[in-house]
Amino acid sequence: MRVDVAILGAGASGLTCAAACAARGRATLVIDHGERPARKVLASGGGRSNITNTDVGPADYVCANPHFVKSALARFGPGDLLESLAAAGVATDVEDGGKVFCRDGAKSAVRFLVGRAEAAGAKTLLGTAVLDVRREGGGFTVATSAGPVDCAALVLALGGRSWPALGASGLGHDLARRLGLGVTALRPGLAPLLAGPQDLELCRELAGVSLPVAVSGPCDLAGDLLFTHKGVSGPAVLDASLFWREGRTLFLDFLPGIDVEAALAESGRQEVRNILARRLPRRLAAALCARLGVAGPAAGLAAAARRQLAATLRAFPFAPAGTAGWAKAEVTLGGVDTAAVSSKTMEASAVPGLYVVGELLDVTGRLGGFNLHWAFASGLAAGQAA
Ligand SMILES: Cc1cc2nc3c(=O)[nH]c(=O)nc-3n(C[C@H](O)[C@H](O)[C@H](O)COP(=O)(O)OP(=O)(O)OC[C@H]3O[C@@H](n4cnc5c(N)ncnc54)[C@H](O)[C@@H]3O)c2cc1C
Repeated sequence: MRVDVAILGAGASGLTCAAACAARGRATLVIDHGERPARKVLASGGGRSNITNTDVGPADYVCANPHFVKSALARFGPGDLLESLAAAGVATDVEDGGKVFCRDGAKSAVRFLVGRAEAAGAKTLLGTAVLDVRREGGGFTVATSAGPVDCAALVLALGGRSWPALGASGLGHDLARRLGLGVTALRPGLAPLLAGPQDLELCRELAGVSLPVAVSGPCDLAGDLLFTHKGVSGPAVLDASLFWREGRTLFLDFLPGIDVEAALAESGRQEVRNILARRLPRRLAAALCARLGVAGPAAGLAAAARRQLAATLRAFPFAPAGTAGWAKAEVTLGGVDTAAVSSKTMEASAVPGLYVVGELLDVTGRLGGFNLHWAFASGLAAGQAA
């Protein structure tokens, strides 16, 4: 088979790229080993697809070159996506933090992506594994389980290594390396963090408790934290996992914005655990008091002990043993090195005709719709050029 553009991966980035290529009259083929397209989109946002964010900017992404995302985001913002969704009859709702969800669920987002690519004339080959890629003359030959495909332009839209149950294979990084591109260090991102031995018992005891916290140490951010049987999760922790590295300690402020010392001093005759339980989940207040060896009324605490208790509540040290790994990470941190990729077209500077888009690149968004938005913006940038 011979096409103008072969796109490897029928995820959010590949399907967006396909729609744009085919709309320019390019004979476009999308190849994916899954029996269904866009499986991550279907699972995204807990089945509601947090499809973008009303406020997307370069600061929402982790990338070795923080300027890399600017051009694609400037040419495709949240307003552009919302306009196309509305025109296609996909209803959306804006929630806390500007998160945009699909009102009728993630299925409507998948229908939108597949429908747009098909309407433009792109063909899709599902259930077909990509095995290898070779440069041939001025183009490429893709070896697939359904036979070879020759193409003038090749788009790698194979995603990262996270969540293999939804089709991730790591093949994109291997192919990129084989074609001469650099790949930065890969690690699970937007992943729960596992407790170290000193905190495991506390986490088990508190499993299911959730509360708003501020996190400092390798990052400064705020959001909800959820204790689990193995450690901590929740939006604040998933975001913090983008910045955490082995051996580093996170500091958790369980009472952000509250003057704990003053609260203890004001309620002298009351039990410390009851004072804390008015501001914290009761189980957490009790567990922290037990762990810090604090009992009895606040008035019974010496000033130094009160200070130490307040300091611990504001900066509770949590030293993770690791992340929950690829199986539970929503994204891959690191990827194809953007130093050798055009930020305007996503074309590899040393390999004319080769494009890399989406999560496969060393671009990772924080939680809140930013990763899908990057898949769309980068897919479109390549689709306008390939
Ligand atoms: C559970 C979960 C929930 C998420 N929720 C959100 C959210 O609400 N909002 C948000 O912004 N982001 C979310 N994300 C992240 C977001 O889904 C991804 O960043 C985005 O989908 C990446 O798109 P992509 O096209 O680059 O890659 P992918 O969607 O991973 O697409 C890559 C495609 O390549 C195919 N492929 C892989 N290997 C092979 C092979 N060997 N042969 C052929 N085909 C292959 C795969 O089957 C897949 O279809 C979530 C991720 C997960 C895992």
